[in-house]
Formats: sequence, structure tokens, C-alpha cells
Amino acid sequence: MNSEKTEGNERQILIEIIDKLCVEHMFKKGREGEKEFEMLLTTQNEDGLRYLKRKARETADRIYGKIIYIRGLIEFTNYCKNNCFYCGIRKDNNRIQRYRLSHDQILECCHKGYEFGFRTFVLQGGEDAYFTDDKICSILSDIKSNYPDCAVTLSIGEKSRESYQAFFDAGADRYLLRHETANEEHYKKLHPSEMSLANRKQCLSQLKEIGYQAGCGFMVGSPYQTMQTLYEDLIFMREFQPHMVGIGPFIPQKDTPFGEQKAGTLDRTLRLLSIIRLMNPHVLLPATTALGTIHLRGRELGVTAGANVVMPNLSPAKVRDNYKLYDNKIYTGVEAAEGITELSNKMSEIGYQIVTDRGDFR
Ligand code: SAM
Repeated sequence: MNSEKTEGNERQILIEIIDKLCVEHMFKKGREGEKEFEMLLTTQNEDGLRYLKRKARETADRIYGKIIYIRGLIEFTNYCKNNCFYCGIRKDNNRIQRYRLSHDQILECCHKGYEFGFRTFVLQGGEDAYFTDDKICSILSDIKSNYPDCAVTLSIGEKSRESYQAFFDAGADRYLLRHETANEEHYKKLHPSEMSLANRKQCLSQLKEIGYQAGCGFMVGSPYQTMQTLYEDLIFMREFQPHMVGIGPFIPQKDTPFGEQKAGTLDRTLRLLSIIRLMNPHVLLPATTALGTIHLRGRELGVTAGANVVMPNLSPAKVRDNYKLYDNKIYTGVEAAEGITELSNKMSEIGYQIVTDRGDFR
């Protein structure tokens, strides 16, 4: 009787927090807010959790409808000058085979993607000096002149303002740069000393000022992440107001300094997707490859928790295995652009339709 009563109380408190989040898009101020967030992240109350996901899904439906946007991901280089402790393509990892796609190979990926119905191409890669600004601009202008109805998203890390401006002028529409963590101390534990959170944040501000649709984000369950650092991530996103947020579980890669660390969980990632949706209702929110990697139905579960974007892989099959950010990364089946029909079927099974559309921020 008593435990039923406590459960009922907890359910009621959760519903109040979630309803308030739906209206105010923020937790209470100060320590109280942190406690509310912690409760959403740790509760075992099934009714409360169902309510959180339902509200998040309804919010996305109200703005975007029962539609899922697709982006064709082209991982065009795995060379990187950085040494992020978590990342499998870090400079010091000499156990991976490095590759770069040529200008023509990248255009070929777009050609294939266009036929499949993709209207956004995401060019992602390590920070690779071989791809000078001129090379990137020339790729962008060719994509835009061949496919004027498509959007191009860049995800190539920290650059100067001038470079960002040049890419934008050459046709880039969007830019994804995860902030990784909004907490200074945590940032230092994930990155070598030559990298800084201040620079990451400055890049993000510049991208927005230039006119990009800008995306930030972080890994769920990255080493040394705490309730406090996660809360700071939410506060940062609340201020930054990104057009896109990329979150997915951290997954260890054995040849990195974090190779023995624990992976982030499906449950926490889903809760955070829902919270982010309620805090920033219009955000474009992918159910990421990492989510699909830790769970067979990660993609679908991400959508039911409030995600509205999926990003199948358009890179040539022979290089996919080398873009090894983490172990066991999936790149076949629904994860591959060739699996678009299967992906489409999976989405319709849960009541959603994949569309041929640029899928801009509304
Ligand atoms: N170099 C670009 C950048 O820094 O934004 C883009 C490539 S980077 C590999 C893309 C994202 O992969 C990072 O922002 C990071 O969050 C994610 N990532 C790297 N290693 C990961 C891991 N072990 N598990 C999950 N995600 C990871």
C-alpha cells in the first residue's frame, strides 16, 4: 500500500515536471532544476517514463508531422590532426587504415544518394589538412550546381571564421560541430591540452553568426560525464539554441585511451533525446548510428523518443569499415543508403514516413 502510494506520488511529480518542460522548455532555476533533471534521468517509474517519451513524440509530430528526414552521410576522410581520447580516427591510432575520397568519388556518392531520394548530403571527416579550403569549396560548388535542390551539411571540425565563411559562400547550408561537453574540466579529460572548449564554443557562435543552420551535441555516457556535466550541456544548448543536436552513446574503440571504458546506455540516450526535444521543440534530432549500434532497434526507439532524422551511410562500401570512430560500428542493412527501402519499412511499422526532402529547420 505504502509503496503504491510512493509510486503514485513519484508519477505525479514526474508528470508535473514534464508538463512544465512542455510549456516553459526549461527546468526550475538553480539547484531545484538540477534535481528535476536528475529525477527524469534516474526514475524507474514506468508511467512517468512513458509519459516523457509520449510528450516528446507528440511535440515533434506537432511541428514536423509523422515524417522522418533522411541525410546521406559521406565519411570522406579518416585522417585527423586531433587526438581526442575517445575517437578511433585520432591521429595517434596507427592501427587503422587511413583513406580519403577523391573529389569525383564524393560527387559519385551524391549522385547515388540523389537517386535513392536523399536531398541532404552530410560531408563528415577528420580534420585533414589535405582538404584545403579551396578543395572543400570546389566540392561544395560542384555538389550545389549538380543538385541545386539539395542541402549540404559539413562536419569537419574546428576551422577559422574565414574558412567557415568561404564554405558558406560556396554553398554549405548547415554545420555540425558537437560541443562534446559544456563543462571545462570534463572537456579537458576528453581532449589533449591543445584543444579547448572555449575554441569549440567560439566556432559554434561563428557558424551561427555566418548564417549556417548549426548543430551541437555530445556523447551520452562519455568517460567522466556526471549528472552535473549533463545538466550543463542542457543549459548550454538552451542558450545556444541549435538547429540540430547530435547525441548518441559513447562506444569505446579498443585502440584509443578510452578503449576499456564503459559504453553509454540506450536507456539514458532515449531519455535525453526526449528531454532535448521538449526543451527545444523545433530541433532537428537524429537517431544516430551509435544508437543503432548499441541496440538492434535503436533507430526506431530513438524516433519514438522524439528523434526525427536518420543518417544512412552513403560512403563507398569499401571504406565504410575504416571510419571506425568506435568498435562494432554498423554500416550495412538499414544503416547503409542501399538499405533505404528496409529503413523506410521499419519506419512505417512505427507509423512514420521517410520523405525525399531537404528537411530544413522549421
Ligand atoms: N572532426 C569532426 C568533428 O570534430 O566534429 C567530425 C568527425 S568526429 C569523428 C564526429 C563525432 O563522432 C564527434 O563529435 C564525437 O562526438 C563522435 N565520436 C567520436 N568517437 C566516438 C565514440 N567512441 N563513440 C561515440 N561517438 C564518437
